[in-house]
Amino acid sequence: MSHVFPRHTKANPPAAVSGDGCYIIDKSGKKYFDGSGGAAVSCLGHSDPDVIQAIKDQVDRIAFAHTGFFTTEPAEELADLLIEHAPGNLDRVYFVSGGSEAVEAALKLARQYFLEKGESSRHRVIARRQSYHGNTLGALATGGNQWRREPFSPLMIETSHISPCFEYRGRREDETAFEYGQRVANELETEIQRLGPENVMAFVAEPVVGATAGAVPPVEGYFKRVREICDRHGILLILDEVMCGMGRTGSLFACEQDGVAPDILCIAKGLGAGYQPIGAMLCTAEIYQAIETGSGFFQHGHTYIGHPTACAAALTVFRKLSGGLVDRVHPMGEKLDAALRDAFGQHPHVGDIRGRGLFRGIEIVEDRSGKTPFDPKRGINKALKKAAFEAGLICYPMGGTIDGVNGDHILLAPPFILEDQHVDEITGKLDQAFRAVF
Ligand code: PLP
Repeated sequence: MSHVFPRHTKANPPAAVSGDGCYIIDKSGKKYFDGSGGAAVSCLGHSDPDVIQAIKDQVDRIAFAHTGFFTTEPAEELADLLIEHAPGNLDRVYFVSGGSEAVEAALKLARQYFLEKGESSRHRVIARRQSYHGNTLGALATGGNQWRREPFSPLMIETSHISPCFEYRGRREDETAFEYGQRVANELETEIQRLGPENVMAFVAEPVVGATAGAVPPVEGYFKRVREICDRHGILLILDEVMCGMGRTGSLFACEQDGVAPDILCIAKGLGAGYQPIGAMLCTAEIYQAIETGSGFFQHGHTYIGHPTACAAALTVFRKLSGGLVDRVHPMGEKLDAALRDAFGQHPHVGDIRGRGLFRGIEIVEDRSGKTPFDPKRGINKALKKAAFEAGLICYPMGGTIDGVNGDHILLAPPFILEDQHVDEITGKLDQAFRAVF
């Protein structure tokens, strides 16, 4: 009888006992290819000797020192390195322990920034439907996934949600991809006008939407238009790269590929690559200066912010990513995309194959021509997850792709160290899962 409070009370997951490169091995000895890095976490695989050594070395020196008293070398070095590579005017790094904490910190910093500037009416957050920004209350209120929000809605801050930029589902036949992107970006302007620009604090978006929609990249020009609208109204652009950042889409920061830089950026997952729980919120010099010359401190904090062991692990991860590993992501991602199209491009229940780099989504439909989803009661995504797991493949299927209720997709986010034979292993095992379910 377990005393662990599990994610699902009816599930009985095997115990993971060891990691070996791209594989996780359970107690019975069964090996699973980690095709989703858990949830886009394990970008270096599971047994990176350098990261493991960095953690051991840091624990030998000092495992923890509270940021109310000390700074530490790994935190300082990691912040320097992140800022050296970060886009735009990002200049300061606030370390936290995960993605939701990064988003909470971003929301509170945005609010405090406007208070410091004397714009105290600015408090409203605009985000997009079908987004995911975390499970803590502020992050959950920001996210646009109905199913996750509903039970907790009485506890949440009031937020607005505009359309996502989801070409497969949203583009009309009479418009180009670019026109579609401009149309949905302009919904931001409409919502700002409705709320009154003086009340709006931030627009929050994932550059490539992850968990809730399945690796949905924006169309060309979308984020540039969003950036213009934010600037015109003095609204902060917060980009949530918790899932798509740290090289996952082929560039260290996902937004680089869209030619925009945010005012605040959130990262996690790939930053610690699963070796330590760590996230970060990066902000511009202007935002930091408003705090510095205003009240002098950010009214926030958690016990474990800037945790030295977590920072030491992330420092080694980031050195590897920026030292050449991310260069593999684009070519290997193209190989994975080609293999997926080859294997499933004509499958009667595959509606769309999409993504960037090693961040790929497969949208499942009942009928391809009408893009009709399966009845959610059939639990297609759950069945696919189970069948893939049985075949020895970890992937990340989810339901509610279209509107939080309808639609199914599979998310793939394998380690960046994967080799050509692993691409075949992914498609082969996915094929077994498809055959078992359909
Ligand atoms: N933001 C995005 C885009 C995410 O994908 C996630 C997690 O999946 C989060 C925030 C929350 O991160 P965490 O689960 O580490 O709190």
